Amino acid sequence: MFEVILKGHDKYYGISDVVRMFFGVPEELKEEGKVIAPDGPDIRLVNELLPDGRSVTFFEGKAYEYEGGLLEPGREIKRSLYMALSDITSKRMPWGCLTGIRPTLVACEEESAKDLEEKYFVRSDKAQLAFETSREEQRILTKVPENSLCIYVGIPFCPSRCEYCSFVSSDISCHMDRLVNYEAALEREIRMVSPSVRRPISAVYVGGGTPTVLEEKEFGSLLDCIYTNLNITPGCEVTVEAGRPDTITDGKLAAMREHGITRICINPQTMRSDTLLRLGRKHTAEDTVRVYKKAVDMGFDLINMDLIAGLPYEDTDEHVDSTKKLIELAPANITVHTLYKKRRARITREQVMDTGRPGTGLDECVAKSYDLLREAGYHPYYMYRQKDTGHGLENTGFARGDTGSLYNVAMMSDCRDVLSFGAGGMSKRCFRQEGELFKHRVERCPTIKDALTYIERTEEMAAKKIDFFA
Ligand code: SF4
Repeated sequence: MFEVILKGHDKYYGISDVVRMFFGVPEELKEEGKVIAPDGPDIRLVNELLPDGRSVTFFEGKAYEYEGGLLEPGREIKRSLYMALSDITSKRMPWGCLTGIRPTLVACEEESAKDLEEKYFVRSDKAQLAFETSREEQRILTKVPENSLCIYVGIPFCPSRCEYCSFVSSDISCHMDRLVNYEAALEREIRMVSPSVRRPISAVYVGGGTPTVLEEKEFGSLLDCIYTNLNITPGCEVTVEAGRPDTITDGKLAAMREHGITRICINPQTMRSDTLLRLGRKHTAEDTVRVYKKAVDMGFDLINMDLIAGLPYEDTDEHVDSTKKLIELAPANITVHTLYKKRRARITREQVMDTGRPGTGLDECVAKSYDLLREAGYHPYYMYRQKDTGHGLENTGFARGDTGSLYNVAMMSDCRDVLSFGAGGMSKRCFRQEGELFKHRVERCPTIKDALTYIERTEEMAAKKIDFFA
C-alpha cells in the first residue's frame, strides 16, 4: 500500500495530485493526516511543511528538499514530494511537479522557460511551450477588455456517441424529442437573462456536444435568438462548434454566414475513416474534406480543426499522417488534443496509446505533430491540461498569424467573466487580486447538467444567473 503522511499541513489535494501523476489514477483515500493508495506500491513517505515555509519529504532515511527560492506552501509540498517520487521510481514527468490544468498561468509569473525547468522540473520542450504560449495568451487577452463578457451557449447533444467521449452529451438517436424542447428552453433562458446583462461582449462560443445537430429550422432560430438578444457588435468573435461533419448542411452553413458567425470548428479528430467508424463517429475523412472545402467556398476564413493524438487503433505514424493532411487543407487553427481514458468513456484504458518512456508512444506522437505544425507556420496560442490525465500531457491550440480564438484564451485564463447558457454550463466571475496581474479570485455558478431537468427548470436557472451577475 502506498502512503504519504502529512506533517505540518493538510494539503490533501495537492499531495493526491502528485501521487496520481506517478501511479495512474489510484483509488487514493484521504485519511486523517495521510493520503493512501491501497493499490499503489509498498512505499511510505512523510511530507512535511516546516514553519519557515520549506517542505521536506522523507523516505527511508533520505530527505528530499529543494535548495533554492521558496514557492508558496501549496507548490512547495508538491515539489518536495515530486523530488522523492521521481528519485524512487526513476520517472520524470513532462510537466515536472506542475499538476494544475493551466501551466501557462505559472509561466506568466516567470521570466524565462529556464525558470520553469529549474523551479518546477518541467522538461525543456514543455517549458518552452508553456512560456511561449503564455506570452501569446497575454497578447490575445489584451483584445478582451476586463469589463467585457464572454458567452457560452451549450447544446449537449450529438448524432451518436464517440467511444472516447467523457462529456455529458445525449445521443439524439435516443433523444430526438428532447432536442427540440431543449432548443426552445435555451432560447427562453437567453431571452430572460440578456436584458439584465448590459456589458460589452467580446466573444461568443456555441459549443456542445454538437450544436449543428439541430435541424436547420431550430438552428436558424437559435442563431436569431443569440443575435437579437445579445449585444453582439462588430469585432465580436462568434464561434460555432460545427464539430461533426455529418451534421453540417449547406443550409446551416448559409445560416451561419448570414448571421455573421466569424469562426467555425470542423473537427475530424483523425483523417482515417476506419478509425472514425470504429470510434462510433458516423462520418468519413472524405466528409470532413468536402464540408471544409464547402465552408471555405462560402467565405469562412477562420476555421478550426481538432485532432486527437493517442486514439485507439492508431499509432504515431497514422496520427502524423492526419496532421499532414490537415496542414494541406490549411485551416487558420488546428488544435491537438491528447486522449486519456476518463470515467465516462466507453474505451478501455488499454486501448489508449501509452506515454511509455519519454520520446515514445503518445509523447512522441504529440511532439511530431507540434513540429510539423510549427514548420508549416502555426504557433501555439493557448493550452491546458486535463485533470487526472495519467500521462500528464496537454491540449494545445495552434494558429496561423493573429487568428487565435479570443474565447478559448479568455475562458482558460480565469480572468474574464463568462456567462453560460444551457445545461452543464459554468458561468464565472473573476475578481483581480490586489496587486496581482494574473491572479484572480473566481466565483462560479454551475447550471444543472441533465438536459431534461434543465428544460423543466429553465426559469430557475435563468434567475440564478441574473442574481449571480447582478
Ligand atoms: S462529438 Fe464530442 S461531445 Fe459528441 S459524442 Fe463525440 S466526443 Fe462526445
